[in-house]
This record gives sequence, C-alpha cells and structure tokens, in this order.
Amino acid sequence: MSLCHPNKGNVSCGACCGLFNLELDTGGYKKLLQDRTEEFHSNVNFSIRHSFPAYRQSREKLENGIPKKDEMTYNCPFLGYVNRDGKKIGCMIHPIFTGDPKSQNFSFYGASICQAYDCKNKEHELALLWEDLFVKIAEDSVQFSHLASDHILIYAIEKWMGFKNWNMEEGILRFQELILSLLHLRLKQIANFNPTSFEVRYNSFSEESSVYVFLRESLGEGFCDLEEEMKKAPERIA
Ligand code: SF4
Ligand code: SF4
Repeated sequence: MSLCHPNKGNVSCGACCGLFNLELDTGGYKKLLQDRTEEFHSNVNFSIRHSFPAYRQSREKLENGIPKKDEMTYNCPFLGYVNRDGKKIGCMIHPIFTGDPKSQNFSFYGASICQAYDCKNKEHELALLWEDLFVKIAEDSVQFSHLASDHILIYAIEKWMGFKNWNMEEGILRFQELILSLLHLRLKQIANFNPTSFEVRYNSFSEESSVYVFLRESLGEGFCDLEEEMKKAPERIA
C-alpha cells in the first residue's frame, strides 16, 4: 500500500486525478463521486471495450457544466468509490479491478502516466510517518486527499523543524500535536484550496520567518496562537 491507499483508516487520495479541479464543496465532491460510481457500475462491462469510452464520454459531457479551477487540468471521471462502503476513492479502471494491465488507456492520461506518477508526498522518504498523521485527522477521503497532496505545506513544516535543529523523523514525533493542529487548520481552509499535487513550490523558505509568513497566508487567522507556539518551540540540543 502507499500514501494513495493507506493500510489504516478508511480513507484514500484522488487529488492527482483532478478531483479538486472542479469547483465544488465537500458535499458536492461526495455526490459527484457517488454519481460516477453508480453510472460506472451500471454501464461499464469489463468485457465490452466500447463501454469504457461510452462512460467517459457521458461523464465528460455531464461534468463540463461544473466550473473548473484550471481549464488546462483534466478531471478524470474514472475516479470513484472503490470499496464496498463507499468511503475509499480510487481508480475504477485500475488493473486490479479490470484484470487488464492497460485498462487505464481508456483515460485521458493513459496507463503509463497513471501508473508511474508519484506526487512529492508519496515519494517522500518519511511518507509513512506523514500518512499516520493524515489518517489520524482526516474524517473522509476528501479531507485525506487535501492533506496527502499538499506537498508545499509539508515542506514548510519540515523546513521549520530544520530551523529548530530537529531531524525530520524526530521532529514529526516531538511536535506531533502541533503538526496535527496545523493540519486541522489546513482542513478548515478546504474551500480556498483546489490541490492537484502538481503545484509548483516557488518558496524555498530560506528563513524561519518565511515559514510563518506562508502559514499565516495559507492557514488564516487561526494560525496566530500556533505561530507563538512555534516560535517558542525548543531547539534540539545536540
Ligand atoms: S496526489 Fe499523491 S497521494 Fe494522492 S493519489 Fe496522487 S500520487 Fe497518490
Ligand atoms: S484513469 Fe488515471 S487519472 Fe483516471 S482515475 Fe484512474 S489513475 Fe486517476
């Protein structure tokens, strides 16, 4: 398993499949995923090849009416619910379901891109530690997708730990409660973010103060108290 589909919890991520490129609220995303899943299972027959493009065409037409954040980013209609209780999201034409290693070629990106893409948080050497925190705090797959795909926030937090002389592994454990509070604030800002995981990080956070500026701008007013806590946090003694 990977950050996309953690072993624990009943959540998973679908941000890089373009879910949040559609301008909806959390209820809207859940309904969209439910509608896709129902239409997919009613109309796609894995042994009838033309049923895949027919489904894709039908959904693209329906979803064309939803405002997009970025017209150049694709939102793939094959992302739906993939477990029985409709909590985990994922690729409905993944080879583990279809038995065909190339079935994702029915999508816009194609099997080679779909199977090779790893976002920055997924390829992070401490992905499992971060995953634990995301699973702890995310109430559903929409929230989990927001956290799992937000590599800039994770980078900023890690830079801050570096300024306090903590190595990442120790720092994540030492400041777990503080980090959970930051993630909690991030989830309160869901309406202001449409992450895909492709976001480019322009800020290198070369000074501790630049981390605070970024967090203030991203997390809003609720960050004030945490900013004080972060400033006062102990440095690691060598
Ligand atoms: S954004 Fe990252 S964690 Fe999420 S599904 Fe894509 S690769 Fe996986
Ligand atoms: S076909 Fe590719 S882009 Fe579409 S849901 Fe599957 S993995 Fe995501």
